Amino acid sequence: MPHIDLRTVILLAGFMTALMAVVLFFVTRSFPQRIRGIGHWAGGTLVGVFSGLLFGLRGLIPDALSVLLASLLLYTALSLWLSGTELFYQRQPSWRFQALVSGVGLGLLTWFLLVQPDTNARLAVAGLSLPLFYGRQLLVVFRYGRPGFISRFFCLVLLAQIGVLLLRGSSALVPGLGSDFLEQTPIQVVYLTAYPICTLMITVGYVLLATDRLRGELEYLSSHDSLTQILNRRAFVEVCEWEMARARRHGRALCLLMLDLDFFKKINDTYGHQAGDLVLQGFVQRVGAVLRRGEHFGRYGGEEFVVLLPDADLEQARQVAERIRLTTAEGPAQLPPVTVSIGVAALEAADTNLDCLLSRADNAMYLAKANGRNRIEVAAAGTREEGGGVSPAAPAP
Ligand code: GH3
Ligand code: MG
Ligand code: MG
Repeated sequence: MPHIDLRTVILLAGFMTALMAVVLFFVTRSFPQRIRGIGHWAGGTLVGVFSGLLFGLRGLIPDALSVLLASLLLYTALSLWLSGTELFYQRQPSWRFQALVSGVGLGLLTWFLLVQPDTNARLAVAGLSLPLFYGRQLLVVFRYGRPGFISRFFCLVLLAQIGVLLLRGSSALVPGLGSDFLEQTPIQVVYLTAYPICTLMITVGYVLLATDRLRGELEYLSSHDSLTQILNRRAFVEVCEWEMARARRHGRALCLLMLDLDFFKKINDTYGHQAGDLVLQGFVQRVGAVLRRGEHFGRYGGEEFVVLLPDADLEQARQVAERIRLTTAEGPAQLPPVTVSIGVAALEAADTNLDCLLSRADNAMYLAKANGRNRIEVAAAGTREEGGGVSPAAPAP
């Protein structure tokens, strides 16, 4: 095996990890406060760097510093990392578990340094106890992580780190495979190069997880209405265009409902704008309960909403509209009463774009208003006029 200066490896890896700690501190400062845990990751990384420095100075400084203080810092670093991951996924930090593993680990390390000095026993203690911190992180990410490449990458790096530690810890117990910490044995060279690389990759994983979370939040904010949390107009139009293309491709039905709350201005004028907002939220909640998976609900503007029903014909769409009308009129007792007028339209072969479908549903909705409100009107098939205009919808039977 070529000669590798293990002390240099540890110090170099420590330097790179220190840079990642700086990156993580910048992320902590610039990301929204509600994304929790990043500060713990940054702090843990910094503490881990100091721990690595002390380990790297083995033989040059007293063992009490290069073994005991270094280990104390290492257990602290891993506790901070685990807590950070738990906080990141809105879990309570597992303080008791962390205190127990750290207490037992550090107790045994002290014993095998001061009372019954044994390097291999210490390697075994570290190699078999530290994976518990990584294993618990792995479980948290596995259970609560957003499925995708970044979570998978992070889980793989954690698994690699656990493997490296377990290999080193268990091999220290095999006679003949044990060695001193900085000794040039194959197992120690593999361990002392793989461990810092995995550590570095874990910090890269933290940065990736944090930026992925931010990207997800921004995506959500740009596609959802802030008052009601349903799709905003832009996102709804995107979904409609996608569903229209799909319906055309497979020759399937598609219906659109245009909903407008009745005399909503009066609610604002009578009860105040805040009460109006609560009515809008209550309405959205009730309609959401009526809709099924795969049906799309969006806020088109002010007190106007849209529902897209894939695979539904006019009769099925009218039934959904009736359920929405009824649940709206029932309303919760603690909110001002409100009703809704709904226009229903189906996708037709002649519809060249979404506007054709939208304006037919809109016309049907205005007809519902004209006919007395709190009612449904269905746009009769083929009501489209030449030049893209739409003739008034036919009233529902
Ligand atoms: P119609 O039955 O003909 O639809 O009458 P309307 O009063 O509902 O219709 P109009 O278009 O005259 O008024 C709509 C009102 O909705 C006016 C506007 O202040 C209110 N509105 C729009 N967006 C919001 C909102 O986010 N919160 C609240 N509280 N009110 C809103
Ligand atoms: Mg209205
Ligand atoms: Mg309106």
